[in-house]
Amino acid sequence: MVHMFARWVETSGMETAPRTSPDPSPPAPPPHGLRVALATLGCRLNEAETASIGQRFVARGYTVVPFGEPADVCVVNSCTVTLEADRKCRQLVRQALKRNPETFVAVVGCYAQVGHEALQRIDGLDLIVGSAEKLNVVELIDERPGKRPAPEVVRPRPSREAFALPSEATEGAARSLRANLKVQDGCDFMCAFCLIPFARGRARSRAVWDIQREAQARLAAGHKELVLTGVNIGTYAHDGRGFTELVEMLERLPGLERLRISSIEPTTVESTLIRHIANSKVLCPHVHIPLQAGSDRVLAAMKRQHTQRDFLALLEEANEHMPDAMLATDLMVGFPGESDADFAETLRVMRESPLVYAHIFRYSERPGTAAARRPASERVAPEVKRERSEALHELSREKFAAWRRRFEGRTVRVLTEQLDTETQTVSGTSDEYLKVRLPLSSMPPSWRSEPLNRLLTARVTAASESSEVVDAWVNETPGHVDTYGK
Ligand code: SF4
Repeated sequence: MVHMFARWVETSGMETAPRTSPDPSPPAPPPHGLRVALATLGCRLNEAETASIGQRFVARGYTVVPFGEPADVCVVNSCTVTLEADRKCRQLVRQALKRNPETFVAVVGCYAQVGHEALQRIDGLDLIVGSAEKLNVVELIDERPGKRPAPEVVRPRPSREAFALPSEATEGAARSLRANLKVQDGCDFMCAFCLIPFARGRARSRAVWDIQREAQARLAAGHKELVLTGVNIGTYAHDGRGFTELVEMLERLPGLERLRISSIEPTTVESTLIRHIANSKVLCPHVHIPLQAGSDRVLAAMKRQHTQRDFLALLEEANEHMPDAMLATDLMVGFPGESDADFAETLRVMRESPLVYAHIFRYSERPGTAAARRPASERVAPEVKRERSEALHELSREKFAAWRRRFEGRTVRVLTEQLDTETQTVSGTSDEYLKVRLPLSSMPPSWRSEPLNRLLTARVTAASESSEVVDAWVNETPGHVDTYGK
């Protein structure tokens, strides 16, 4: 404790940048020896934000170490989408404190925002930072170094205003070769089961100029793919631009090879967007549209804004223009009142539609939501939820495997992301989000010493039932492949 505190005191006189000032960023101080370990729970947006939090720590002289290794500071970027996510967060905090009771531990994000009372009961936890201030956690720590006698809670209400991100949070090395680009936060939809509007606040968009700034910085740093992330990205609106205009602006950026849209609510998909994706040389043929339930009765009870028919129309359009695209969805089982007949509708949509993959969730009651106020008699028994979840998983696995097999013998474009030195293979992701494994020996000789972040075309040689990764062989020099007649 003394050692850690002494090192903190040494650095406490550092200049601090204004909390939300986007520009200019202060020069990075030399490393002061403090180590920070970061853990992320939940969604892709949380992953993007953890990367930004890490970059802000680095900008202040910290060294980022893997979670679980000795660290002076541990930060858990939390999720509260299910009771299980809450439990995992508390477990990570306790594990970090058990490893070293002198470690400074902070919980930030969604669970910190809505579950702060439960978190405050954890002995040894130092800081609880809600959604609005989560990116500023390093400043909150450095402003008052050392362990707190009791957890300090910082959770102002998230604003509705457009936002920009501090530049030092977005211009360092991204953790993945596919860089997440946060464009939006919060949601106004108030689906009956969802705590996100409470945890992250109402919908707000990131300023266009700030998105452009980060995108250009990422491309200059060598990233070839950007993934647009947010809570409800289709509601993007800033400076007279909607989501499609934002996408068009990004597509024009020199050096951008691939642009992926993470997940978009069905009612926010503008009428031209699907065709636009199909005709773009940059946008990936990968569409994730959350359905949640196949039955209109359940969709209405969930307060979703679409019907089964709306969803299917969108999916058919995507399938017509991009017949081999990854068409994915989110499905929830066990929403209060979901009958066998309702679930049969979900199963039917999954079976008969062009969907190739589903993220499947079991309904988990979240206090404060409209669904939590429904009568206890409507609750679906845990074993029924389990059976329904298993049936959907089985179907999703089958459809996903059949989709992968379609690519056998065909050429896909792959961005290489990981090297396995033991098997001498390189893995990466295709435009469609197919996970692809390539023998290093099939790559051009000049690339073999630096095989990652290469965009190449490869022929799929084998797709198996049991593995989500298909095998392929590099068969061409770098370039675009004309998979969709683009
Ligand atoms: S659209 Fe519905 S499920 Fe998605 S974040 Fe908003 S309220 Fe939650």
